[in-house]
Amino acid sequence: MVEPPRFSRRGSCCWPKPIEKILVANRGEIACRIMRTARRLGIPTVAVYSDADAGALHVRSADEAVHIGPALACLSYLGRVSIVDAALRAGAQAIRPGYGFLSESAEFAQLCEDNGLTFIGPPASAIRDMGDKSASKKIMGSAGVPLVPGYHGDEQDIDFMRSEAEKIGYPILIKPTHGGGGKGMRIVQSANEFVDSFLGAQREAAASFGVDKILLEKYITRPRHIEVQIFGDKYGNVLYLNERDCSVQRRHQKIIEEAPAPNVTSDFRTHLGQAAVSTAKAVNYHNAGTVEFIVDTASGQFYFMEMNTRLQVEHPVTEMIVSQDLVEWQIRVANGHAFEARIYAENVPKGFLPATGVLHHYRPVPGTSSVRVDTGVEEGDTVSMHYDPMIAKLVVWGESRSAVLVKLKDSLSMFQVAGLPTNLNFLRKLANHWAFEDGDVETHFIEHFKDDLFDDSCHENEAYKEAIYSAALVAACICNKENSNFREGGNGLNSIWYANPPFRVHHCAKRVFEFKG
Ligand code: ADP
Repeated sequence: MVEPPRFSRRGSCCWPKPIEKILVANRGEIACRIMRTARRLGIPTVAVYSDADAGALHVRSADEAVHIGPALACLSYLGRVSIVDAALRAGAQAIRPGYGFLSESAEFAQLCEDNGLTFIGPPASAIRDMGDKSASKKIMGSAGVPLVPGYHGDEQDIDFMRSEAEKIGYPILIKPTHGGGGKGMRIVQSANEFVDSFLGAQREAAASFGVDKILLEKYITRPRHIEVQIFGDKYGNVLYLNERDCSVQRRHQKIIEEAPAPNVTSDFRTHLGQAAVSTAKAVNYHNAGTVEFIVDTASGQFYFMEMNTRLQVEHPVTEMIVSQDLVEWQIRVANGHAFEARIYAENVPKGFLPATGVLHHYRPVPGTSSVRVDTGVEEGDTVSMHYDPMIAKLVVWGESRSAVLVKLKDSLSMFQVAGLPTNLNFLRKLANHWAFEDGDVETHFIEHFKDDLFDDSCHENEAYKEAIYSAALVAACICNKENSNFREGGNGLNSIWYANPPFRVHHCAKRVFEFKG
Protein backbone atom coordinates (compact mmCIF):
# COMPACT_ATOMS: atom_id res chain seq x y z
CA MET A 1 0.00 0.00 0.00
CA VAL A 2 2.62 2.54 1.02
CA GLU A 3 6.32 2.73 0.50
CA PRO A 4 8.78 3.37 3.33
CA PRO A 5 9.87 6.99 3.57
CA ARG A 6 13.46 7.90 2.78
CA PHE A 7 14.21 10.95 4.83
CA SER A 8 17.24 13.10 4.35
CA ARG A 9 18.92 14.45 7.48
CA ARG A 10 17.01 17.70 7.09
CA GLY A 11 13.67 15.99 6.91
CA SER A 12 12.89 16.17 3.22
CA CYS A 13 11.73 12.84 1.84
CA CYS A 14 10.71 11.15 -1.34
CA TRP A 15 7.13 10.11 -0.56
CA PRO A 16 4.62 10.84 -3.30
CA LYS A 17 3.22 13.43 -0.88
CA PRO A 18 5.92 14.95 1.35
CA ILE A 19 5.44 14.26 5.05
CA GLU A 20 5.51 17.59 6.82
CA LYS A 21 3.62 16.53 9.91
CA ILE A 22 3.04 13.12 11.54
CA LEU A 23 0.21 12.19 13.89
CA VAL A 24 1.37 9.64 16.46
CA ALA A 25 -1.58 7.36 17.19
CA ASN A 26 -0.29 6.03 20.49
CA ARG A 27 0.73 7.00 24.02
CA GLY A 28 3.48 6.30 26.57
CA GLU A 29 7.06 5.47 25.74
CA ILE A 30 6.52 4.46 22.10
CA ALA A 31 4.79 7.77 21.31
CA CYS A 32 7.65 9.68 22.97
CA ARG A 33 10.21 7.56 21.11
CA ILE A 34 8.61 8.22 17.70
CA MET A 35 8.41 11.95 18.46
CA ARG A 36 12.11 12.04 19.35
CA THR A 37 13.09 10.64 15.95
CA ALA A 38 10.63 12.90 14.13
CA ARG A 39 12.07 15.93 15.93
CA ARG A 40 15.60 14.91 14.91
CA LEU A 41 14.37 14.71 11.31
CA GLY A 42 12.74 18.12 11.59
CA ILE A 43 9.17 16.83 11.25
CA PRO A 44 6.53 18.29 13.62
CA THR A 45 4.29 15.80 15.45
CA VAL A 46 0.69 15.71 16.64
CA ALA A 47 -0.19 13.74 19.78
CA VAL A 48 -3.60 12.29 20.56
CA TYR A 49 -4.76 11.83 24.15
CA SER A 50 -7.60 10.55 26.30
CA ASP A 51 -9.05 12.23 29.41
CA ALA A 52 -6.66 10.16 31.54
CA ASP A 53 -3.61 11.40 29.61
CA ALA A 54 -4.24 15.15 29.42
CA GLY A 55 -1.00 15.86 31.31
CA ALA A 56 1.02 12.90 29.98
CA LEU A 57 4.60 13.18 28.76
CA HIS A 58 3.73 12.20 25.18
CA VAL A 59 1.33 15.16 25.02
CA ARG A 60 4.01 17.51 26.35
CA SER A 61 6.54 16.08 23.88
CA ALA A 62 4.49 16.78 20.75
CA ASP A 63 4.22 20.05 18.83
CA GLU A 64 0.44 19.93 19.12
CA ALA A 65 -2.13 17.62 20.66
CA VAL A 66 -5.71 16.58 19.96
CA HIS A 67 -8.11 15.24 22.57
CA ILE A 68 -9.81 12.06 21.29
CA GLY A 69 -12.06 10.83 24.10
CA PRO A 70 -12.41 9.28 27.56
CA ALA A 71 -9.89 7.06 29.37
CA LEU A 72 -11.39 3.82 28.07
CA ALA A 73 -9.08 2.80 25.19
CA CYS A 74 -11.96 1.60 23.00
CA LEU A 75 -13.40 5.13 23.14
CA SER A 76 -10.10 6.94 22.49
CA TYR A 77 -6.89 5.22 21.34
CA LEU A 78 -8.83 2.57 19.42
CA GLY A 79 -11.15 5.06 17.76
CA ARG A 80 -10.20 4.69 14.10
CA VAL A 81 -12.46 7.43 12.77
CA SER A 82 -11.65 10.03 15.44
CA ILE A 83 -7.91 9.50 14.98
CA VAL A 84 -8.09 9.86 11.19
CA ASP A 85 -10.27 12.91 11.72
CA ALA A 86 -7.70 14.37 14.16
CA ALA A 87 -4.93 13.86 11.57
CA LEU A 88 -6.92 15.57 8.85
CA ARG A 89 -7.86 18.49 11.10
CA ALA A 90 -4.26 18.94 12.24
CA GLY A 91 -3.00 18.86 8.66
CA ALA A 92 -0.82 15.75 9.09
CA GLN A 93 0.07 13.70 6.02
CA ALA A 94 0.96 10.46 7.85
CA ILE A 95 -0.03 8.41 10.88
CA ARG A 96 2.49 6.42 12.86
CA PRO A 97 0.74 3.77 14.99
CA GLY A 98 3.60 2.43 17.20
CA TYR A 99 2.69 -0.94 18.77
CA GLY A 100 -0.56 -2.13 20.38
CA PHE A 101 -3.80 -0.17 19.86
CA LEU A 102 -4.35 0.25 16.07
CA SER A 103 -0.89 -0.83 14.91
CA GLU A 104 -2.13 -4.17 13.55
CA SER A 105 -5.54 -3.10 12.34
CA ALA A 106 -5.91 -3.71 8.61
CA GLU A 107 -9.13 -1.65 8.69
CA PHE A 108 -7.28 1.31 10.14
CA ALA A 109 -4.48 1.04 7.54
CA GLN A 110 -7.17 0.98 4.86
CA LEU A 111 -9.04 3.93 6.37
CA CYS A 112 -5.83 6.00 6.35
CA GLU A 113 -5.26 5.19 2.71
CA ASP A 114 -8.88 5.99 1.80
CA ASN A 115 -8.42 9.43 3.39
CA GLY A 116 -5.18 10.18 1.57
CA LEU A 117 -3.09 9.63 4.71
CA THR A 118 0.05 7.52 4.76
CA PHE A 119 -0.11 4.66 7.26
CA ILE A 120 3.51 4.20 8.32
CA GLY A 121 3.47 0.42 8.50
CA PRO A 122 3.03 -2.67 6.32
CA PRO A 123 0.37 -3.14 3.64
CA ALA A 124 -3.16 -3.83 4.95
CA SER A 125 -3.15 -7.18 3.07
CA ALA A 126 -0.10 -8.43 5.03
CA ILE A 127 -1.67 -7.31 8.33
CA ARG A 128 -4.79 -9.27 7.37
CA ASP A 129 -2.83 -12.41 6.37
CA MET A 130 -0.84 -12.42 9.59
CA GLY A 131 -3.66 -11.35 11.95
CA ASP A 132 -5.05 -14.87 11.94
CA LYS A 133 -2.56 -17.36 13.39
CA SER A 134 -4.11 -20.33 11.58
CA ALA A 135 -4.29 -18.59 8.17
CA SER A 136 -0.69 -17.42 8.55
CA LYS A 137 0.43 -20.95 9.36
CA LYS A 138 -1.24 -22.20 6.19
CA ILE A 139 0.63 -19.60 4.13
CA MET A 140 3.91 -20.45 5.86
CA GLY A 141 3.39 -24.19 5.39
CA SER A 142 3.10 -23.69 1.65
CA ALA A 143 6.17 -21.41 1.66
CA GLY A 144 8.18 -24.25 3.21
CA VAL A 145 8.67 -22.59 6.62
CA PRO A 146 8.73 -25.26 9.40
CA LEU A 147 5.57 -25.36 11.58
CA VAL A 148 4.97 -26.86 15.03
CA PRO A 149 3.08 -30.14 14.51
CA GLY A 150 -0.57 -29.32 15.08
CA TYR A 151 -4.02 -28.60 13.66
CA HIS A 152 -4.86 -25.14 12.36
CA GLY A 153 -7.81 -25.80 10.06
CA ASP A 154 -11.34 -24.39 9.99
CA GLU A 155 -13.17 -27.41 11.46
CA GLN A 156 -13.87 -26.58 15.13
CA ASP A 157 -16.14 -29.40 16.25
CA ILE A 158 -15.04 -30.46 19.72
CA ASP A 159 -14.93 -34.22 19.00
CA PHE A 160 -12.99 -33.60 15.83
CA MET A 161 -10.56 -31.36 17.72
CA ARG A 162 -10.13 -33.99 20.42
CA SER A 163 -9.20 -36.61 17.85
CA GLU A 164 -6.71 -34.15 16.29
CA ALA A 165 -5.20 -33.64 19.75
CA GLU A 166 -4.79 -37.43 20.07
CA LYS A 167 -3.01 -37.51 16.71
CA ILE A 168 -0.64 -34.70 17.73
CA GLY A 169 0.05 -36.39 21.08
CA TYR A 170 -0.14 -34.85 24.56
CA PRO A 171 0.88 -32.43 25.96
CA ILE A 172 -0.73 -29.99 23.55
CA LEU A 173 -1.23 -26.24 23.56
CA ILE A 174 -4.61 -24.68 22.72
CA LYS A 175 -4.34 -21.18 21.19
CA PRO A 176 -6.94 -18.66 20.00
CA THR A 177 -6.28 -18.00 16.31
CA HIS A 178 -6.80 -14.26 16.72
CA GLY A 179 -5.08 -14.06 20.07
CA GLY A 180 -2.28 -12.04 21.53
CA GLY A 181 -0.69 -11.37 24.88
CA GLY A 182 -0.85 -15.06 25.81
CA LYS A 183 -4.61 -14.72 26.47
CA GLY A 184 -6.77 -17.82 26.13
CA MET A 185 -3.80 -20.18 25.77
CA ARG A 186 -4.17 -23.50 27.64
CA ILE A 187 -1.66 -26.32 28.12
CA VAL A 188 -3.44 -29.68 28.08
CA GLN A 189 -1.50 -32.54 29.62
CA SER A 190 -3.90 -35.40 28.90
CA ALA A 191 -7.11 -36.34 27.05
CA ASN A 192 -9.35 -36.02 30.12
CA GLU A 193 -8.49 -32.30 30.50
CA PHE A 194 -9.24 -31.54 26.85
CA VAL A 195 -12.94 -30.62 26.90
CA ASP A 196 -12.72 -28.19 29.85
CA SER A 197 -9.62 -26.49 28.47
CA PHE A 198 -11.02 -26.25 24.96
CA LEU A 199 -14.31 -24.68 26.10
CA GLY A 200 -12.48 -22.33 28.48
CA ALA A 201 -10.13 -21.17 25.72
CA GLN A 202 -13.07 -20.62 23.36
CA ARG A 203 -14.89 -18.52 25.97
CA GLU A 204 -11.83 -16.40 26.71
CA ALA A 205 -11.03 -15.95 23.01
CA ALA A 206 -14.59 -14.80 22.26
CA ALA A 207 -14.53 -12.35 25.18
CA SER A 208 -11.06 -10.94 24.44
CA PHE A 209 -10.82 -11.03 20.64
CA GLY A 210 -14.40 -11.40 19.42
CA VAL A 211 -13.50 -14.62 17.55
CA ASP A 212 -13.60 -18.02 19.28
CA LYS A 213 -11.60 -19.97 16.70
CA ILE A 214 -8.93 -22.24 18.17
CA LEU A 215 -5.82 -24.02 16.89
CA LEU A 216 -3.92 -26.91 18.42
CA GLU A 217 -0.17 -27.32 18.66
CA LYS A 218 2.23 -29.81 20.11
CA TYR A 219 3.33 -28.30 23.42
CA ILE A 220 7.08 -28.01 23.42
CA THR A 221 8.16 -28.64 26.97
CA ARG A 222 11.46 -26.73 27.04
CA PRO A 223 11.24 -24.13 24.30
CA ARG A 224 13.07 -20.91 23.56
CA HIS A 225 11.33 -17.96 21.97
CA ILE A 226 13.60 -16.50 19.30
CA GLU A 227 12.34 -13.89 16.86
CA VAL A 228 13.84 -12.22 13.83
CA GLN A 229 13.59 -8.54 12.94
CA ILE A 230 12.96 -8.19 9.23
CA PHE A 231 12.76 -5.21 6.99
CA GLY A 232 11.35 -5.07 3.49
CA ASP A 233 11.00 -2.52 0.71
CA LYS A 234 8.16 -2.40 -1.79
CA TYR A 235 10.31 -3.95 -4.53
CA GLY A 236 10.35 -7.36 -2.85
CA ASN A 237 13.74 -6.96 -1.11
CA VAL A 238 13.69 -8.28 2.44
CA LEU A 239 16.59 -8.48 4.84
CA TYR A 240 16.90 -9.68 8.41
CA LEU A 241 18.58 -7.74 11.17
CA ASN A 242 19.63 -10.53 13.49
CA GLU A 243 17.46 -12.25 16.03
CA ARG A 244 16.28 -11.51 19.55
CA ASP A 245 15.91 -14.03 22.34
CA CYS A 246 12.72 -13.36 24.31
CA SER A 247 12.61 -16.58 26.30
CA VAL A 248 12.56 -15.07 29.76
CA GLN A 249 8.82 -14.66 30.22
CA ARG A 250 6.09 -14.66 32.83
CA ARG A 251 2.51 -15.65 31.95
CA HIS A 252 3.71 -16.32 28.35
CA GLN A 253 4.78 -12.67 28.13
CA LYS A 254 8.29 -11.36 27.60
CA ILE A 255 10.18 -9.69 30.41
CA ILE A 256 13.84 -9.62 29.26
CA GLU A 257 14.88 -9.56 25.61
CA GLU A 258 18.40 -9.76 24.22
CA ALA A 259 20.07 -9.60 20.84
CA PRO A 260 21.67 -11.60 19.39
CA ALA A 261 20.39 -14.83 20.99
CA PRO A 262 23.03 -16.47 23.23
CA ASN A 263 24.37 -19.97 22.64
CA VAL A 264 23.29 -20.46 19.04
CA THR A 265 25.53 -21.44 16.14
CA SER A 266 26.05 -19.21 13.14
CA ASP A 267 24.43 -21.91 10.96
CA PHE A 268 21.31 -21.84 13.09
CA ARG A 269 21.27 -18.04 12.94
CA THR A 270 21.51 -18.07 9.15
CA HIS A 271 18.75 -20.67 8.72
CA LEU A 272 16.46 -18.79 11.09
CA GLY A 273 17.09 -15.50 9.28
CA GLN A 274 16.42 -17.10 5.91
CA ALA A 275 13.16 -18.65 7.17
CA ALA A 276 12.09 -15.20 8.40
CA VAL A 277 12.83 -13.66 5.03
CA SER A 278 10.80 -16.42 3.28
CA THR A 279 7.94 -15.69 5.70
CA ALA A 280 7.91 -11.98 4.83
CA LYS A 281 8.21 -12.63 1.10
CA ALA A 282 5.28 -15.07 1.21
CA VAL A 283 2.95 -12.19 2.17
CA ASN A 284 4.60 -9.46 0.04
CA TYR A 285 5.67 -7.70 3.18
CA HIS A 286 7.26 -4.31 3.33
CA ASN A 287 8.20 -2.10 6.28
CA ALA A 288 9.45 -3.40 9.63
CA GLY A 289 8.17 -6.71 11.00
CA THR A 290 9.02 -9.52 13.38
CA VAL A 291 8.85 -13.23 12.68
CA GLU A 292 8.53 -15.26 15.88
CA PHE A 293 9.88 -18.79 16.16
CA ILE A 294 9.70 -21.34 18.88
CA VAL A 295 12.83 -23.47 19.28
CA ASP A 296 12.71 -26.95 20.76
CA THR A 297 15.83 -27.06 22.96
CA ALA A 298 15.71 -30.88 22.96
CA SER A 299 16.01 -31.24 19.17
CA GLY A 300 17.38 -27.82 18.16
CA GLN A 301 14.54 -27.56 15.61
CA PHE A 302 12.83 -24.19 15.12
CA TYR A 303 9.22 -23.63 14.10
CA PHE A 304 7.28 -20.60 12.85
CA MET A 305 4.94 -19.25 15.52
CA GLU A 306 3.56 -15.98 14.15
CA MET A 307 4.51 -12.74 12.48
CA ASN A 308 3.95 -9.37 14.13
CA THR A 309 3.30 -6.71 11.53
CA ARG A 310 4.64 -3.76 13.47
CA LEU A 311 7.63 -2.48 15.36
CA GLN A 312 7.80 -4.58 18.55
CA VAL A 313 8.16 -3.30 22.10
CA GLU A 314 11.64 -4.82 22.11
CA HIS A 315 12.89 -3.31 18.83
CA PRO A 316 15.53 -1.18 20.65
CA VAL A 317 17.76 -4.21 21.32
CA THR A 318 18.00 -4.73 17.56
CA GLU A 319 18.49 -1.02 16.94
CA MET A 320 21.37 -1.08 19.38
CA ILE A 321 23.22 -4.00 17.82
CA VAL A 322 22.84 -2.83 14.24
CA SER A 323 23.36 0.87 15.06
CA GLN A 324 20.25 2.02 13.33
CA ASP A 325 17.05 3.81 14.10
CA LEU A 326 14.26 1.61 12.79
CA VAL A 327 11.86 4.50 12.93
CA GLU A 328 14.20 6.43 10.65
CA TRP A 329 14.98 3.46 8.36
CA GLN A 330 18.72 3.75 8.59
CA ILE A 331 20.38 0.44 8.02
CA ARG A 332 23.98 0.28 9.15
CA VAL A 333 25.33 -3.08 10.14
CA ALA A 334 27.53 -3.21 13.20
CA ASN A 335 28.21 -5.56 16.04
CA GLY A 336 27.66 -6.06 19.71
CA HIS A 337 25.05 -7.31 22.13
CA ALA A 338 22.07 -5.63 23.81
CA PHE A 339 19.52 -6.30 26.56
CA GLU A 340 16.17 -4.75 27.28
CA ALA A 341 14.64 -4.99 30.76
CA ARG A 342 10.99 -4.01 31.17
CA ILE A 343 10.36 -2.14 34.38
CA TYR A 344 6.77 -2.60 35.46
CA ALA A 345 4.58 -1.30 38.24
CA GLU A 346 3.69 -4.71 39.54
CA ASN A 347 3.50 -6.77 42.65
CA VAL A 348 6.00 -9.57 42.09
CA PRO A 349 5.21 -11.71 45.16
CA LYS A 350 1.50 -11.64 44.21
CA GLY A 351 2.12 -13.33 40.86
CA PHE A 352 3.25 -10.15 39.04
CA LEU A 353 -0.11 -8.49 39.63
CA PRO A 354 -0.22 -5.07 37.91
CA ALA A 355 0.12 -2.25 40.46
CA THR A 356 -0.98 1.38 40.45
CA GLY A 357 0.20 4.47 42.29
CA VAL A 358 2.15 7.70 42.19
CA LEU A 359 5.82 7.79 41.19
CA HIS A 360 6.83 9.87 44.20
CA HIS A 361 10.48 9.24 43.51
CA TYR A 362 11.67 8.40 39.99
CA ARG A 363 15.34 8.46 39.03
CA PRO A 364 16.07 6.36 35.96
CA VAL A 365 19.74 5.79 35.16
CA PRO A 366 21.24 8.58 33.07
CA GLY A 367 21.27 7.83 29.34
CA THR A 368 24.57 7.39 27.48
CA SER A 369 25.45 6.16 24.00
CA SER A 370 25.04 2.59 25.27
CA VAL A 371 22.39 2.99 27.97
CA ARG A 372 18.94 4.12 27.00
CA VAL A 373 15.75 4.53 29.00
CA ASP A 374 12.50 4.77 27.05
CA THR A 375 9.75 5.99 29.32
CA GLY A 376 6.36 7.68 29.14
CA VAL A 377 6.32 9.02 32.70
CA GLU A 378 8.07 11.49 34.99
CA GLU A 379 8.39 11.86 38.75
CA GLY A 380 4.99 12.74 40.19
CA ASP A 381 3.04 10.98 37.42
CA THR A 382 0.51 8.29 38.22
CA VAL A 383 0.49 4.75 36.89
CA SER A 384 -3.23 4.20 36.50
CA MET A 385 -5.29 1.06 36.10
CA HIS A 386 -6.38 2.09 32.62
CA TYR A 387 -3.31 1.03 30.64
CA ASP A 388 -0.27 -1.19 30.55
CA PRO A 389 1.67 -0.77 33.83
CA MET A 390 5.08 -0.52 32.14
CA ILE A 391 7.11 2.33 33.67
CA ALA A 392 10.17 2.19 31.43
CA LYS A 393 12.34 0.08 29.19
CA LEU A 394 15.99 -0.02 30.15
CA VAL A 395 18.09 -0.85 27.08
CA VAL A 396 21.84 -1.40 27.29
CA TRP A 397 24.46 -2.16 24.67
CA GLY A 398 28.04 -3.48 24.87
CA GLU A 399 30.78 -5.14 22.83
CA SER A 400 29.95 -8.62 24.12
CA ARG A 401 27.26 -10.34 26.18
CA SER A 402 29.44 -10.47 29.27
CA ALA A 403 30.35 -6.78 28.96
CA VAL A 404 26.77 -5.64 28.52
CA LEU A 405 25.50 -7.89 31.30
CA VAL A 406 27.70 -5.92 33.72
CA LYS A 407 26.12 -2.76 32.36
CA LEU A 408 22.63 -4.21 32.79
CA LYS A 409 23.33 -5.13 36.42
CA ASP A 410 24.84 -1.71 37.17
CA SER A 411 22.00 0.16 35.51
CA LEU A 412 19.35 -1.89 37.30
CA SER A 413 21.03 -1.28 40.63
CA MET A 414 21.11 2.48 40.02
CA PHE A 415 17.51 2.72 38.77
CA GLN A 416 15.37 4.21 41.54
CA VAL A 417 11.60 4.13 41.83
CA ALA A 418 9.58 4.65 45.01
CA GLY A 419 5.94 5.16 45.72
CA LEU A 420 4.54 1.99 44.21
CA PRO A 421 5.58 -1.65 43.91
CA THR A 422 7.83 -2.49 40.95
CA ASN A 423 9.63 -5.52 39.55
CA LEU A 424 13.04 -3.79 39.82
CA ASN A 425 14.47 -5.97 42.51
CA PHE A 426 13.24 -9.07 40.74
CA LEU A 427 15.02 -7.92 37.57
CA ARG A 428 18.20 -7.35 39.58
CA LYS A 429 18.02 -10.92 40.91
CA LEU A 430 17.38 -12.21 37.42
CA ALA A 431 20.29 -10.36 35.84
CA ASN A 432 22.61 -11.64 38.58
CA HIS A 433 21.50 -15.27 38.33
CA TRP A 434 24.21 -17.71 37.27
CA ALA A 435 22.03 -19.47 34.68
CA PHE A 436 21.07 -16.18 33.07
CA GLU A 437 24.74 -15.21 33.07
CA ASP A 438 25.44 -18.44 31.18
CA GLY A 439 22.72 -17.62 28.65
CA ASP A 440 20.98 -20.80 29.72
CA VAL A 441 17.47 -19.49 29.07
CA GLU A 442 14.19 -21.12 28.16
CA THR A 443 10.59 -20.06 28.69
CA HIS A 444 10.29 -21.77 32.09
CA PHE A 445 13.36 -19.98 33.39
CA ILE A 446 11.50 -17.98 36.04
CA GLU A 447 9.41 -20.93 37.19
CA HIS A 448 12.47 -23.20 37.23
CA PHE A 449 14.57 -20.85 39.37
CA LYS A 450 11.74 -19.44 41.44
CA ASP A 451 13.42 -20.35 44.71
CA ASP A 452 16.43 -18.20 43.80
CA LEU A 453 14.48 -15.37 42.23
CA PHE A 454 11.69 -14.99 44.78
CA ASP A 455 13.62 -15.52 48.00
CA ASP A 456 12.63 -13.52 51.08
CA SER A 457 15.67 -11.31 51.26
CA CYS A 458 14.67 -10.01 47.86
CA HIS A 459 11.33 -8.74 49.18
CA GLU A 460 12.89 -7.49 52.38
CA ASN A 461 15.49 -5.55 50.44
CA GLU A 462 12.85 -4.07 48.22
CA ALA A 463 10.69 -3.10 51.18
CA TYR A 464 13.71 -1.65 52.97
CA LYS A 465 14.74 0.49 50.00
CA GLU A 466 11.17 1.65 49.46
CA ALA A 467 10.96 2.64 53.12
CA ILE A 468 14.21 4.67 52.88
CA TYR A 469 13.06 6.51 49.76
CA SER A 470 9.64 7.20 51.24
CA ALA A 471 11.14 8.37 54.53
CA ALA A 472 13.53 10.72 52.72
CA LEU A 473 10.63 12.05 50.74
CA VAL A 474 8.45 12.69 53.77
CA ALA A 475 11.40 14.34 55.58
CA ALA A 476 12.03 16.62 52.61
CA CYS A 477 8.35 17.63 52.54
CA ILE A 478 8.31 18.40 56.28
CA CYS A 479 11.46 20.56 56.04
CA ASN A 480 10.11 22.36 53.05
CA LYS A 481 6.84 23.14 54.81
CA GLU A 482 8.59 24.42 57.91
CA ASN A 483 11.05 26.50 55.93
CA SER A 484 8.28 28.17 54.04
CA ASN A 485 7.84 30.30 57.24
CA PHE A 486 11.02 32.20 56.67
CA ARG A 487 9.52 34.91 54.44
CA GLU A 488 7.21 36.05 57.22
CA GLY A 489 9.97 36.99 59.65
CA GLY A 490 11.21 40.51 60.50
CA ASN A 491 11.32 43.06 57.73
CA GLY A 492 9.66 40.83 55.15
CA LEU A 493 12.93 40.09 53.34
CA ASN A 494 13.95 36.54 52.50
CA SER A 495 16.46 35.67 55.15
CA ILE A 496 17.96 32.47 56.48
CA TRP A 497 17.90 33.99 59.98
CA TYR A 498 14.14 33.67 60.02
CA ALA A 499 14.10 30.10 58.81
CA ASN A 500 12.54 27.49 61.07
CA PRO A 501 14.59 25.83 62.48
CA PRO A 502 16.85 28.93 62.44
CA PHE A 503 20.21 28.93 60.69
CA ARG A 504 23.03 28.62 63.19
CA VAL A 505 26.76 29.16 62.75
CA HIS A 506 29.11 26.45 64.14
CA HIS A 507 26.23 24.13 64.96
CA CYS A 508 25.18 20.95 63.37
CA ALA A 509 21.60 21.29 62.06
CA LYS A 510 20.61 17.71 62.55
CA ARG A 511 16.93 16.64 62.39
CA VAL A 512 15.84 13.24 63.60
CA PHE A 513 12.71 11.67 62.14
CA GLU A 514 11.22 8.56 63.59
CA PHE A 515 9.09 6.34 61.34
CA LYS A 516 6.91 3.67 62.79
CA GLY A 517 6.34 0.61 60.56
P1 ADP B 1 0.58 -14.56 21.82
O1 ADP B 1 0.38 -14.06 20.43
O2 ADP B 1 -0.68 -14.72 22.60
O3 ADP B 1 1.65 -13.81 22.58
P2 ADP B 1 2.33 -16.69 20.89
O4 ADP B 1 1.87 -17.65 19.89
O5 ADP B 1 3.23 -15.57 20.43
O6 ADP B 1 1.08 -16.07 21.66
O7 ADP B 1 3.06 -17.43 22.08
C1 ADP B 1 3.46 -16.77 23.27
C2 ADP B 1 4.38 -17.66 24.10
O8 ADP B 1 3.73 -18.90 24.38
C3 ADP B 1 5.66 -18.07 23.40
O9 ADP B 1 6.67 -17.11 23.52
C4 ADP B 1 6.01 -19.35 24.16
O10 ADP B 1 6.55 -19.06 25.42
C5 ADP B 1 4.65 -19.97 24.40
N1 ADP B 1 4.32 -20.94 23.32
C6 ADP B 1 3.71 -20.67 22.14
N2 ADP B 1 3.57 -21.79 21.39
C7 ADP B 1 4.11 -22.79 22.12
C8 ADP B 1 4.26 -24.21 21.92
N3 ADP B 1 3.82 -24.82 20.82
N4 ADP B 1 4.86 -24.93 22.90
C9 ADP B 1 5.30 -24.33 24.04
N5 ADP B 1 5.18 -23.02 24.30
C10 ADP B 1 4.59 -22.25 23.36
